[in-house]
Amino acid sequence: AMLGGPTGTRVGAPMMIGEDVLGILAVACYRPNAFGEDDIVLLSNVAQQAALAVDNARHHATVEDQARRDSLTGVFNNKHLHLQLAETFARCRAENRPLSVIMVDIDHFKDYNDTYGHVIGDEVLRRVAQTIEERVPPGSIVGRWGGEEFTIILPGATAEGAYAVAENLRRGMSEMPLRTGSNRSIPTPTISQGIAAYPNNAASDDELILLADKALYKAKETGRSGIMTA
Ligand code: GH3
Ligand code: MG
Ligand code: MG
Repeated sequence: AMLGGPTGTRVGAPMMIGEDVLGILAVACYRPNAFGEDDIVLLSNVAQQAALAVDNARHHATVEDQARRDSLTGVFNNKHLHLQLAETFARCRAENRPLSVIMVDIDHFKDYNDTYGHVIGDEVLRRVAQTIEERVPPGSIVGRWGGEEFTIILPGATAEGAYAVAENLRRGMSEMPLRTGSNRSIPTPTISQGIAAYPNNAASDDELILLADKALYKAKETGRSGIMTA
C-alpha cells in the first residue's frame, strides 16, 4: 500500500504467515512520491522474510519453554528446577537475601491410582500443581521434583515466610474441587511439606534440598498433612 501527498510518502507491507498478519513493515520518506513499484516489491519481500524470522523465533521460544516444563502439569521439570535453584541461590546470596525451599509430597497418592485409576491420578497431579501455582507469591518458582512431589523455591523468604506459604497450600488442597469423569466427587488430597531456609538452616543449594527433604520425611512420620521446618 502506498500513501502519497504533500507531506511525503509512506509505504507499508504486511508481514504474513499464512492468513495471519504478524505486523506491518512501514517505510516513510519526506519527499512526495518517493517510492516506485520496485520499492514496493522489495518491501514486500523484506516483510515476508521478517515474518518468517519472527515466526521462527516464536517457535524457538515455545520449544525452549516446553523443554523446561513437565508435560503433565506444566510446572518446571526437575532439570530446570535445579538450574533455577542454583541461579536463585547465587543471586540471593550475592544480595544478602534469604531463600527458602518447600518440598511437597501428596499423601497416600497411590490410593488415588488404585481407587480411581491413573487418569484420575494424573488429574489430581495437575490440580495440585495448579493450586500450588495459584497460591504461591509472585516470583516463586514451582516445579515437579518427580512422581507426586513438587518443589517450591521462594526467593527472599525466611523459614517463617515459607511456613505461611505452606499453610496456605495446605488450605488450598482442602478447597480444591475434584470430580471423576462421571461427576462423582473425589476426596481432596492432603500434602506433607518440608521447609529449609538459607542462611539459617542451609549453606548451599544442595543442602537446602537435602534439609527440606528431611523435614518432609519428618512431616510424613508424624502423621500426614503436616508442615515441618529443618
Ligand atoms: P505417602 O503418603 O507415604 O507419600 O504415600 P504415597 O502413596 O503418596 O507414596 P508412594 O511413594 O508409595 O506412591 C507414589 C505413587 O505416585 C506411586 C506412583 O505410581 C504414583 N505416580 C508417580 N507419578 C505418577 C504420574 O505421573 N501419574 C500417576 N497417575 N501416578 C503417578
Ligand atoms: Mg513421594
Ligand atoms: Mg506421597
